Order: sequence, then structure tokens, then C-alpha cells
Amino acid sequence: MSCRYTAARTTAEAVEALVAAKGEAHVIAGGVALVILMNEKLVEPSWLVDVSRIDALHGIDRLSDGTVRIGAAVTHREVAESEIIAEAFPMMSEMAAEIACGRIMNKGTIGGNICLADPQGDPPITMLALDATMRTVGPDGRRDIPVREFFVDLYETALRDDELLQEILIPPMKPGSITAFGKYAARKAMDYTSTISAAVRLIRGAGNGRIEEISLGLGGVGQTPVYSEALEEMLTNVRPSDEVFGRVRERLFAVMEPIEDHLYSANYKRHVAAVTLRRTVMKAFSGTWEGEGVLIR
Ligand SMILES: Cc1cc2nc3c(=O)[nH]c(=O)nc-3n(C[C@H](O)[C@H](O)[C@H](O)COP(=O)(O)OP(=O)(O)OC[C@H]3O[C@@H](n4cnc5c(N)ncnc54)[C@H](O)[C@@H]3O)c2cc1C
Repeated sequence: MSCRYTAARTTAEAVEALVAAKGEAHVIAGGVALVILMNEKLVEPSWLVDVSRIDALHGIDRLSDGTVRIGAAVTHREVAESEIIAEAFPMMSEMAAEIACGRIMNKGTIGGNICLADPQGDPPITMLALDATMRTVGPDGRRDIPVREFFVDLYETALRDDELLQEILIPPMKPGSITAFGKYAARKAMDYTSTISAAVRLIRGAGNGRIEEISLGLGGVGQTPVYSEALEEMLTNVRPSDEVFGRVRERLFAVMEPIEDHLYSANYKRHVAAVTLRRTVMKAFSGTWEGEGVLIR
């Protein structure tokens, strides 16, 4: 089967091709995920629209109000090495540095990862914890989608067929915020389909004995990257304790729909998710503004 290829240089060119293809085109950025799907014949595109050379999809900048803008075609390597990101959102640097291996970090893009909407993806859960906005561009212009509305179902996002993700906007964290990233991966890259991860941003209350405010993202626990307002509420205005984490564990089990795989049963994933969440919350709780993330193996 033949496949048409458009190497777009502008978002207008890319959108024009997507509109002309009437839903038959696939956007390609690094190709890390899409080429595997094509090789396995799980996706057979008749038109590929390459967005990796569009200037508007590149760069990491801090805007005048402190918002950090990340172009959708920025690679995991660029995220891991960005000083702007390290200063603004330490958990993202650590998250990106732990993605797979050098080749995937060099080719895979943050936008490709987010648009794939893999429940195991690491960037999506940091976006959920940091309350990011996905800025898309389509035939009607730009659209800003809050990340909590972006992940619709397994490998499905709120993007329309004729839209692409242009950039990600992350608002500055409130003063006093601490972040941590935690990931359970027995053999790192090779276990990507089985990883469980948590991204946490929290503020400690006066006297530092309580969590005053918290936002969370959870990976590998459902059909999409997951956030849970119920879990966030349970962890707000409390002193973290065995009792609190016992209740969190029960609630987590209720919201989880883990996908059983060749390595781990659903029950094992439930247990690992509760441990990973607890450790990541406690790492942030006992951390500092600069706080290192946490990696659990
Ligand atoms: C061995 C292995 C290990 C991995 N380990 C990890 C890991 O530890 N953590 C992790 O998070 N990920 C991991 N990944 C996943 C990897 O990070 C993603 O596949 C990669 O980031 C996808 O980016 P890409 O640019 O290559 O996307 P592509 O493969 O080009 O595209 C992926 C999907 O996104 C769409 N798309 C891409 N860009 C856009 C855009 N701008 N607008 C709209 N749609 C778009 C495409 O149409 C396609 O559906 C791993 C992958 C492999 C193969």
C-alpha cells in the first residue's frame, strides 16, 4: 500500500494536509511509537504528515508571566537537559532523564508521547500534576485544552483528526511547591509496558506537619494517564500517616483499572501503585523546593 508523505515546514502546511486527508492522515514526529505500530501493521497510514521540522513546535521558553512553553516536537533529551525546566519543575527533568534509553530520548518527543496517550507514559502524569494546558492548532485556529480533559480513553485524546499539538503550557508553581517523580520499573526501558509511576506536587502547611495542597498524576494504573480528585482530597489538610495511606490505598484500588500483562498481574500492579504513590508523596513531603525526584526500583 502506498503512503503519501508531507514534510510540513509550518503549522498551516501541516493543518492543510490533515484537512485534505479527511481523517486518513497520521501525524509523525520522532516516529518512535508510530513506526513500531506500522511495522506491526496495527496502523497502516495512507498519508504521513511529518511535523518534526516545524519551528513553532520547537523550543523551551519561559514567558513573561512565568509560564513555561514547551514545543510539541521537543525531544525527551531536550527536556532532560533544559535548565529552564530543571529550575521550574524539577520532577520533569528527572522524569525525562529516565525515559527508556539514549536512542529513544534523542528521537521521541514530548508531544508524540502525550498524543499517543499511552497509560504508561511518563510525561502525561507530570502534566496532570502540574496542571498544564495543551495548545492545539487546526483549521479553526488554536484551541487550549486543560490536560485533565485531554486523555479520553486508551490511546485516545481530545485532539480532532485535523488538529495537531503545537505546544504545552505549564503555569508557574505556587511558591512553596515541592515536586517528586516516582517510577517502578524492574528493568527500565524493557519494562515500559509494565511500569507504574507517580508525579506529585504538594505544598506543606504551616509548621510543615501537614500537606496543605496536593496534585497527582498516576501512570500504569488504568486505561489512560490518571488523576483522581478523590485521592487529592484525601491527601489535603492531613498529616501523612499509616492510617491516611491505608485509606488512600483502598480508594486507589477503587479507581484503578490496571491492565494485566506478561510480567505483572493486575493485583500486583495494585500493590505496586499504592507503594509507589506513598513513597513519592513522602519524598515530596520531606523534600525541598529543589527536591530531587525519586526513583523506585
Ligand atoms: C523501548 C521503548 C521504551 C520506552 N520507554 C518509555 C518510558 O520509559 N517512558 C515513557 O514515557 N515513554 C517510553 N516510551 C515511549 C516513547 O517515549 C514514545 O513512543 C515517544 O515519546 C513518542 O514520541 P514520537 O515523537 O516518536 O511520536 P510518534 O511515534 O511520531 O507519534 C506518536 C503518536 O503521536 C501522534 N503525534 C506525534 N506528534 C504529534 C503532534 N505534535 N500533534 C498531534 N499528534 C502527534 C502521532 O500521530 C502518533 O499517534 C518507550 C518506547 C519504546 C519503544
